[in-house]
Amino acid sequence: MPENIIAGIPVHFPFEPYEVQRAYMEKVIMCLRDGTNGVLESPTGTGKTLSLLCASLAWIRTRQSEQQQYMQKLQLDQQKQATSAAGAGAGAGAGVADLNAVMGKANNWGVPKVIYASRTHSQLSQAMRELKRTAYASMRSVVLGSRDQLCIHPDVMREQGNSNKVNMCKLKVHAKTCSFQLRVESKKDHPDFRGPSIMDIEDLVKVGQRLKMCPYFASKELVNGADITFMPYNYLLDPKARKANKIELSNTIVILDEAHNIEKICEESASVQIRSSDVAMAIEDITHIMKIFTSGDAQDTGGPEEPKDFTLDDLTLLKEMLLELEKAIDGVVVDNKAEGTTYPAAHIYELLGKANFTYGNCATIVALLDKLVQYLMVASQHSTMLRKGGSFMVLADLLNIVFANKEDVMSKVHRSFKVHVEIEDNKQSKHAANSAKPQTGWLGKGNNAASSVAKAAKIINFWCFNPGFGMEQLLNAHVRSVILTSGTLAPLKPLIAELAIPVAQHLENPHIVDQSQVYVKIIGTGPDREQLISNYKNRDNPKYISSLGQTILNVSRIVPDGLLVFFPSYPMLNQCVDAWQASGLWADISCRKPIFLEPRGKDQFTSTMEEFYQAIRDSKGACFMAVCRGKVSEGLDFADRNGRAVIITGLPFPPLKDPKVVLKRRYLETNRTKENQLLSGQEWYSLDATRAVNQAIGRVIRHRNDYGAILLCDARFQDMSQVQQLSKWIRGHLGARPQSSPFGPIVRELRQFFKHAEQTMAQPEERVVEPLLQTVCKEEQPTLAPSSSQITIKREPGTGGTKFQLASELAAQAEMANSIKTWTPADYANAAGCSTLGRRPPDAMDFMSRLNANVTSIDFNGADAGQDLVKIHKRERSSPTASESSMIAKKRYKLIGNDPLKTEPSEPASTSSSYCPTPAQSQLKEAPESRADFLREVRSVIDCDQFRSFGKALLAYKTGGDGCFETLMVLLLDVLGAPQLRYLLLGMRRYLKNEHKLEFDVRLASFQAT
Ligand code: SF4
Repeated sequence: MPENIIAGIPVHFPFEPYEVQRAYMEKVIMCLRDGTNGVLESPTGTGKTLSLLCASLAWIRTRQSEQQQYMQKLQLDQQKQATSAAGAGAGAGAGVADLNAVMGKANNWGVPKVIYASRTHSQLSQAMRELKRTAYASMRSVVLGSRDQLCIHPDVMREQGNSNKVNMCKLKVHAKTCSFQLRVESKKDHPDFRGPSIMDIEDLVKVGQRLKMCPYFASKELVNGADITFMPYNYLLDPKARKANKIELSNTIVILDEAHNIEKICEESASVQIRSSDVAMAIEDITHIMKIFTSGDAQDTGGPEEPKDFTLDDLTLLKEMLLELEKAIDGVVVDNKAEGTTYPAAHIYELLGKANFTYGNCATIVALLDKLVQYLMVASQHSTMLRKGGSFMVLADLLNIVFANKEDVMSKVHRSFKVHVEIEDNKQSKHAANSAKPQTGWLGKGNNAASSVAKAAKIINFWCFNPGFGMEQLLNAHVRSVILTSGTLAPLKPLIAELAIPVAQHLENPHIVDQSQVYVKIIGTGPDREQLISNYKNRDNPKYISSLGQTILNVSRIVPDGLLVFFPSYPMLNQCVDAWQASGLWADISCRKPIFLEPRGKDQFTSTMEEFYQAIRDSKGACFMAVCRGKVSEGLDFADRNGRAVIITGLPFPPLKDPKVVLKRRYLETNRTKENQLLSGQEWYSLDATRAVNQAIGRVIRHRNDYGAILLCDARFQDMSQVQQLSKWIRGHLGARPQSSPFGPIVRELRQFFKHAEQTMAQPEERVVEPLLQTVCKEEQPTLAPSSSQITIKREPGTGGTKFQLASELAAQAEMANSIKTWTPADYANAAGCSTLGRRPPDAMDFMSRLNANVTSIDFNGADAGQDLVKIHKRERSSPTASESSMIAKKRYKLIGNDPLKTEPSEPASTSSSYCPTPAQSQLKEAPESRADFLREVRSVIDCDQFRSFGKALLAYKTGGDGCFETLMVLLLDVLGAPQLRYLLLGMRRYLKNEHKLEFDVRLASFQAT
């Protein structure tokens, strides 16, 4: 690979680096060379991670070879001395032998090592993939993961939750009963494990399985010799995790990639919470263990008969302390029942002190809690007991974090932390009260848990508001350099002030793309000239919501392929979706592009993303609606066709009255001085919103050949204070005096922008889920647009490729244009049969949208037209009453005709059996969250007759009286009652009227029981 001299160091880079990459590597090397810290921003697509790895490892390699030369010279000098002193005795020979021993043992002694930390394991895997493609792939590396990710013991893997796995593993290791762990010593030098290749988590697991050796413990064997160790943030920033993983920080270079949320992560790592119910549960658990001891049940449960690790006295003492703690928490006054009451940091020490938890005994108690957890773990394996000691773990966390702050930094703790006490949620209180049964006698000494929890259950929060606290701990551990980097760190000054570390190098790189590849505009008014402003006052304004929908609709007509729309919050997203579904705007937008909503669940998230990417590949585009600070905005890649435009619908300010937000603002106001240059509370509040916006914008324009539009649909983006906080490369597009333009000219400019870009830029064939290296190298290997014959249309089950959907879309388009009143079977036949491959197959949500839109009848027939065809009639109402006129969103539906539909054997995807989940799968599955996805899934698992009846019953229920619920219920149990479809049956609950939900639950319970 070509060698480049950067800051005096030879750096091998896979290609001639761009100017931004050169500037970036120079800053990295200067930090390492001088042992200073850096804060470096470089937009996504500029090859930041690649530059970071190449620069830091080039410097390490240079240091290693310098040291090797030095040692060789030293050895030569020693040999010379030995020769000249020949005959002088064995002393000189011994000196050479010593030196050889030192060199052999401590190869690269004194050369710093790199710790590369990122937010998630997938980001780490991506960085490791990049490392594999560099000239530094042969350097020694290791990744640290959790037992949850690395364990290969079948019993432990079966356990639910990481903490259970941790405890069960500890137990097996302690008892020497895990053969995989016992094999580490003999297999750790196996060439498959020590080989030259870089292993990510998956590779470690595979090698571990092949060698029958524990990957978790084996990976730790590699840490000492590794030049670079990859790990997630919490391993590094959480003192407890650091200790558990024996992370050595002295003389290391700590790189924090994707560090745009680093302040929050530092604060969270130092914060902790305990609930009254946790204490109550701990008391109950300890009482339970005492009972086992005294009744001799230990033998019955198979638990240790004579536990050697703790005694009954230990238990009695701990229980006394917990009862005191419970009493102390009961005694905390909460003046403000709704929002809670705040106390100084010292309060937590007083509270714990009342129960005799102190610096002196903290380590002993934590060790005892650990043993109790393991004891319960063993006992639960031999009995039906469900106790796993979760409350002990919470207590241990509390003690670990609170007492991690040494007494000599108390004044700083006092400034940086607050204790905030809230009333515990009623539901949880009840649960704890129910589970904490009253005790009598010595086993129930003192307050009983149930009564105290029910009386005044509280949550004690110990919150840190100073991210510098965590960073200081790193520096105090003699780290050589800390480098914080991300695509969106700006503005850097307040970040540096908050982290309170000396920063010698900082950088705000421009974007790698040409100005002409990005179109940025502030849209202050919608097409109807209504102001677009998503502030608190305006959020419920139907005119605003409608105008925003019209804006998205108009933009969706122009933007090719993927369109991303970010909302400030889930409630705002839901509010808009509901309003647009009711008004028909939703259907109008989805006629242009199928809409995907960001789901909250992990499983659904993956499938939704797959469907979105597939929709992009298959059709003319798709629209993804997500929230700022959500998963999509924080880390997903929407390169090329996946994201040609991003719409920001508002500024995502944190909730103003949230106690944490209130206290953070107060902390800044109290502690800011001229010297420390901290932000004011208001500045921080505003910056927090803009940072989330920067992050969302960063989803598009992912590499040098990418292009796209950024549309800021909130008039407040015209404020200079807001603009100043945007990333530098975006600011450059807005000019010195940012102004919103009228909507008409924006539409014209946008059209021209995409026309020009499509003519001048290479069009990628389809999205590649690429390693970053590939994208930054694209200029060397440009991908060209495929010819139309190369495009393959792949329709997957449930992704919207059926005739039903295509027909439905065309019907909706026709309806939108209001050009026909009735969509006939022939129209559907033509539409479904037409081979306009360029047209998007719409998704099944169109059906539900039709229910909400201005449609008055739906025909599920169309015998002549083939299966799955829908007929939609639009019927004008005659003589609307006054109340009808005022009810804009209320429609009536009528199902017409009942001709049976024919099934086309050539459409296996539409038959019920083709992708019906198995019972086992369905138990794991959750019904899709969005109405659209839900209907799509229902449609894919039942046959068309059933679906027609389903639609009929649903319509009747929606518009009819109570009797319709019974009809619907009978039908649901009939068509979705099979075990493998039960998840869809459960999913129907959310579409029921509130007054029917309870009855639904009861019917379902009795149905399941039969
Ligand atoms: S030692 Fe390794 S394989 Fe054995 S239980 Fe623990 S993590 Fe799993």
